[in-house]
Amino acid sequence: MPEQRKPILVMGIFALDLAFRTHKLPAWGETVVGSSLATAPGGKGTNQAIAAARLGAETYFLSKIGMDAFGHIAEAAYREAGVRTDFLRRDPHAATGAAAILLDDASGENAIVVSPGSASALTTAEIDAAHEAIARSACFLTQCELPLPLVRHALGLARSLGVPTVLNPAPAVAGAESLLPLCDFVTPNEHEAQALTGLPVSTLAEAEAAADVLLARGARHAILTLGARGAYVKSATLKQHIPAFDAGPVVDTTGAGDAFNAGFAAALAEGMGVIRAARFGCAVAGIAVTRPGTSPSMPRRHEVEALLA
Ligand code: ATP
Repeated sequence: MPEQRKPILVMGIFALDLAFRTHKLPAWGETVVGSSLATAPGGKGTNQAIAAARLGAETYFLSKIGMDAFGHIAEAAYREAGVRTDFLRRDPHAATGAAAILLDDASGENAIVVSPGSASALTTAEIDAAHEAIARSACFLTQCELPLPLVRHALGLARSLGVPTVLNPAPAVAGAESLLPLCDFVTPNEHEAQALTGLPVSTLAEAEAAADVLLARGARHAILTLGARGAYVKSATLKQHIPAFDAGPVVDTTGAGDAFNAGFAAALAEGMGVIRAARFGCAVAGIAVTRPGTSPSMPRRHEVEALLA
């Protein structure tokens, strides 16, 4: 690892994932007894920060948690992964975020309600307080789980400090297209790219057409993740399809996008060019999909290097 490497600053939410398996979805007013329960740290920003730290990147997480049991779980998760929490605020009045994930016993299909809780109470002043750390960073990475005015403010701040911005526009939310002029890199999956552009994205030619719209609307690089087909990169000077990696049987693709974004940001922080960084992101995600879970599935650096060798 080069000694002089700069850190990554990730802004996002923590949500404790509460995964309930059930034989049926309850209707309003109904209670259903579930068949099992599993809990794990989640939130796209949290997954991305944990994955980047596992890859060896010095990673700061900017967010707000509550002073409750879920908040303690969040702190333990960051500590275990080595994520820096200098800019993790604590709110004594708001509950830490959580996600209720209902999984169908038979089909494995899911229905999810995610509540950012205390993370939504993050303020622009608290973001501004991290400006020195943002200025020192190799890149600023965020998603769309926080209120968009906060995301816009933070991207604008990073831009004004000359720090490359990476927006993973997930989940697809109304108004996200207004953030594109603040993005050095925008990394939608097929569904998010379709929501941002209004164009279908199911072939490589369609991915290119959608990427062109993202560039025309102000993003400097469009990097579409295409599931088992890898990623597609386009900018004014670059145009490349990066095939997915086959690292073994696919077990669970949840968090594949988070793995990609973490790998991409960690690679940028090491000074890799855009195409190499996107390939590195695909390798990280290619390993993550061979393992169950989200943050526990994120690979270590040596595993990614072995796949790339
Ligand atoms: P999720 O929402 O499940 O976190 P996503 O929809 O945001 O994921 P995808 O586009 O599905 O993200 O996948 C991100 C990256 O993960 C892809 O660019 C690819 O490199 C890798 N990937 C996804 N699915 C597979 C697969 N079946 N085999 C190999 N790599 C995969």
